[in-house]
Amino acid sequence: MNIKNLRQSEGNNRHSWPITGNQGLVKDLNKAIVFNMIWRSAPTSRADISRASGLNRTTVSSLVNELIAEGYVIEVGVGESALGRKPIMLQSNPDAGIIIGVELAVNCIRLIASDIMANVISRSELAIDPADGVDTIVETMLRAIKSMAASVPSTLWGLIGVGVGVPGLVRSSSGLLAFAPNLKWRNVPLKDIMVERLGVPVFVDNEANVGAMGERWFGAGVDVQNMVYLSVGIGLGVGIVINGELYHGSAGYAGEMGHFTIQPDGPECGCGNRGCWEALASESATIARVIQAIEEGRPTILAGREKHKLTMDELVNACASGDEVARKALVDTGMYLGIGIAGLINTFNPDLVIVGSTVGCCSRLVLDEAEKEIRARGLTQLTKEVQVVQASLGPDSCAMGGISLVLNDLLSPPKIAL
Ligand SMILES: [Zn+2]
Repeated sequence: MNIKNLRQSEGNNRHSWPITGNQGLVKDLNKAIVFNMIWRSAPTSRADISRASGLNRTTVSSLVNELIAEGYVIEVGVGESALGRKPIMLQSNPDAGIIIGVELAVNCIRLIASDIMANVISRSELAIDPADGVDTIVETMLRAIKSMAASVPSTLWGLIGVGVGVPGLVRSSSGLLAFAPNLKWRNVPLKDIMVERLGVPVFVDNEANVGAMGERWFGAGVDVQNMVYLSVGIGLGVGIVINGELYHGSAGYAGEMGHFTIQPDGPECGCGNRGCWEALASESATIARVIQAIEEGRPTILAGREKHKLTMDELVNACASGDEVARKALVDTGMYLGIGIAGLINTFNPDLVIVGSTVGCCSRLVLDEAEKEIRARGLTQLTKEVQVVQASLGPDSCAMGGISLVLNDLLSPPKIAL
């Protein structure tokens, strides 16, 4: 069984025409509402669901019984009641199945397995070399997913879905990875490959979009309706949440602000242009500034270090011990970050800006510098004061976001194309 078996109408009504509210579809809608309420409000009772949803008690009972029979919901003792019989309480069954969230980064793959309540049950990280190419890296990722699914305690349905964040432009309609500048991949039908090999639903999206959803579901952005999430690591991507939903744009490519030109004659970018925001504010850009200072002979405890072996943590440690080269590199990154964020704030008027990945999570110093720029460039007092916070899931934003993509599908009613 997979997610689709939850829905009787699947295949008949989804994305087809004409649409009529036949019994199967109405039932699927109601079942999704009931399951959603149990997932979000557990422990809850049949009477509570009936009251909150407006569905009559008989309908709720019948749908709950189906969800129990399918193993998605369990009864967990009795609750309190002022009058009459004490209600039997319900919650999602954590042992129903597992979900795996994956971050395919430029130099590593991070995986997190959770139960359907999003409780983390396993995690792993493995290094990859982008020079190995698409076939080897995809094979490594598939093997890691299968091995993780096989190593966790057994569940009723086993692996029920996989959500993946990738460092590139993903077509929303097909899960095609159209272009990943830092991996140098083009037109990889990643979703199709993964569905064929894993035999479960797979959701693929840009890593900043997936990270945004991770923070929105489980991190600093819970209950925030309008927010911008920046993934600032080797590259720089933006996930835009408008009215609680990710903004994908026409084909799914929205959020590629990392390639917005900040400095026309600036450093070269992986995309082939010059002076992109990513080429000035990313981890690679920060380290490149340190290497340049070393080559210019400026005094630093990082002298003699090689470009590919320096990490943001080492820069932050050097800065904390008074190293001026490290401090200046981080301050400049904060400044460039702030210039771009001010533009995003003026464009989207978000409630909150969350900065994640290695640069976002390395040091508050970077975000403090970014806030100085935002205060200088914001157009109104309100925009100047938009909060900029670190991703509260740290390095897990994207992998947890992958889990949220599967949960979002599991908990959503069938979509109707009109
Ligand atoms: Zn670029």
